[in-house]
Amino acid sequence: MATGAAPEATSARPIARASRGTTVVPPSYGVAMTLTMADPVGGVVDTRPAPRRPLALSPSRAGDFKACPLLYRLRAVDRLPEPPSPPAVRGTLVHTVLEEMFGRPAAERTPARTAEQVPAAWARMVDECPELATMLPAADVAAWLDSAKALVRSYFTLEDPRHFDPAACELAIEIDSPDGVPLRGYIDRLDLAPTGELRIVDYKTGRSPGPDFEGRALYQLKFYALMIYRLRGVVPSQLKLIYLADRLSLQYTPTESELLGFANAVGALWQAVAAALETGNFPARRGPMCRWCHHQALCPEFGGKPPPYPGAPATAPSG
Ligand code: SF4
Repeated sequence: MATGAAPEATSARPIARASRGTTVVPPSYGVAMTLTMADPVGGVVDTRPAPRRPLALSPSRAGDFKACPLLYRLRAVDRLPEPPSPPAVRGTLVHTVLEEMFGRPAAERTPARTAEQVPAAWARMVDECPELATMLPAADVAAWLDSAKALVRSYFTLEDPRHFDPAACELAIEIDSPDGVPLRGYIDRLDLAPTGELRIVDYKTGRSPGPDFEGRALYQLKFYALMIYRLRGVVPSQLKLIYLADRLSLQYTPTESELLGFANAVGALWQAVAAALETGNFPARRGPMCRWCHHQALCPEFGGKPPPYPGAPATAPSG
């Protein structure tokens, strides 16, 4: 969600609740998983069926609230559906293919072998979510899949995945932050060096951001870094953004004091969210997000009227 293109939608992914405090589960697109691997970052894990998830702050929802409180409400509280967009779904498809690549032997992690997985991965996505089948005219699907294959091949110009195994891919984390802020996020990839250093990697299928948007990309990675810091007490040594469309990667090294300052900012934002949940006051704020907003018909800025406020849902876990 850090590019000048339409923000990537977040897919509803399953998450298994752990005992109070931490959840660490590697999910896959639309498939309820049974966790059998060891938790790579030290959280407490179980595989009990997930209840409806209470509210927590994620980078996407934090961005929504900062951009437009009404947009946050319509997405996080009212949970209004939004139609799938081809760029966002392509992002999910590419992420899925890259995740599955790391499940295969290193010698098979080649550009051709990986790109050829795109149609099968797409077929599974359509099986799991049949409305995706009508997202594009049938005549456009082949070219769209080719564009996904091109993004997959771009990845290999930036890294050679035959030479390392990630600690985790598509890692879902929920934490009960010590300052009472429930945090939730999905980390595309977590690398663990033999020396114990952690690297957080995020793939972007849109183009690299201009200066105005780079801060938003970094916000997301700092959010994940804060979650890892809260879990392990370790500051990740590197945050890495991989822009597949531009064949470009950006690295950033956070510091502990920076993450602590960031935690204060996230805490203040959560307080503002909590106050809005209490009062139901979620003002519309016209801005760049309006261009991609599916809820203009319900927005006072566009002559619409929001539905009655349904009340504050439960927050998770400490709210
Ligand atoms: S159209 Fe703009 S102002 Fe209205 S809810 Fe959407 S983002 Fe907010």
